[in-house]
Amino acid sequence: MKFPDKLPHIGTTIFTRISRRAQELGALNLGQGFPDYPIDPQLTGLVAAAMRDDHNQYAPMEGTMELRECIARKLHECYGWTPDPVSRITITLGATEALYSTIQATVGRDDEVIIFDPAYDAYEPAVRLAGGHCVRIPLLPPAFRHDWDRVRAALTDRTRLIIFNSPHNPTCTAADAADLQALADLIRDRDILVLADEVYEHVVFDGRRHASVLSHPELAEKSCAVFSFGKTLHATGLRVGYAIAPAALTREIRKVHQFNTFSIAHPFQRAIAAYLEAKPQAWLELSAFFEGKRNRLLSALAGSGFAAPPAQGTYFQLIDYSALPCAALPDTEVVELLLTEAGIATIPLSAFYESPLRLTVLRLCIAKQDETLDEAAQRLRAFAAAPDSPG
Ligand code: PMP
Ligand code: GLN
Repeated sequence: MKFPDKLPHIGTTIFTRISRRAQELGALNLGQGFPDYPIDPQLTGLVAAAMRDDHNQYAPMEGTMELRECIARKLHECYGWTPDPVSRITITLGATEALYSTIQATVGRDDEVIIFDPAYDAYEPAVRLAGGHCVRIPLLPPAFRHDWDRVRAALTDRTRLIIFNSPHNPTCTAADAADLQALADLIRDRDILVLADEVYEHVVFDGRRHASVLSHPELAEKSCAVFSFGKTLHATGLRVGYAIAPAALTREIRKVHQFNTFSIAHPFQRAIAAYLEAKPQAWLELSAFFEGKRNRLLSALAGSGFAAPPAQGTYFQLIDYSALPCAALPDTEVVELLLTEAGIATIPLSAFYESPLRLTVLRLCIAKQDETLDEAAQRLRAFAAAPDSPG
């Protein structure tokens, strides 16, 4: 029997593979993006209470009304705009499902989707399963900015979607208002939608403000913006996210959502709504919290030989080993050496490219206890200073 292989070029994700290796080797895991500290006990209590109160049957397909109303209020506070919770907000299984359902709802056979290279790994397989293909526009190092002229040159009659992720995983850059304007100018008078991956909306550093498509009236009418409570509540395992889109697009997204996940864990939705009711501005502290983590890691790595341009946002930090003896090795090999010799798991930047550039850059997750970050920095310093350091 020959089994179908609809995604022949896809294996297990780099995050899962590196997490498995970290576990096997007992290494510190700064690879996959997830916190290693507990969530707010108040949220734990609210989840237990929601289950005790018997919110254990199907939630409404589009999400509980309380949670959608909370989100509408939150978006008003953040971006000065209140989406109608009935027609424009859909609760999804993490941001991953919001991305997937939106792509299935909007992309058809032979359609083209613009993504930026390097890109988060979930976009391309979803586009392929929809029958389309991705056109990759490079974000060029070291600044990893968008080249909007290049995007313009890549648009064709078949372009359906531009996937725009800011703050950006993995480059840790944050787009600004000028980027939003360039994007809006580009798609004006064209049938092209924006899928805005804004899961790190509340993690921007050094006084920056997140440039959301929802704060741009023209883009808000042509975009689906996706968000994740996994990031906002330090709880990646709850798997609750949401999609904000114009009503007509929301109808199409829900057609897919209802046969994909149908509805999202009811007690979690209840608990998150109650939590945001009790702590309506829980997200306000996130940027300062993660900026502190970033600064701690940067100071601990200063003078180590690893270069580390400060992240502008996200809960990651890039480090560059081009000044170390291992500079000639591919990033995948340096990741393996760090795992086996320094006991620390990182993600190679090449994993996010279709045709990797010759880069010497690794991604570290900073959503970790201070002690974990200190220990990681010490191991990285020791690796960099080892007299028999490879290369
Ligand atoms: N988009 C980006 C850029 C991400 O980094 C992640 C997860 N780290 C997701 C989407 C998926 O979010 P979720 O865990 O809510 O599915
Ligand atoms: N988004 C997480 C990261 O970038 C990984 C999530 C996953 O493992 N699918 O690390």
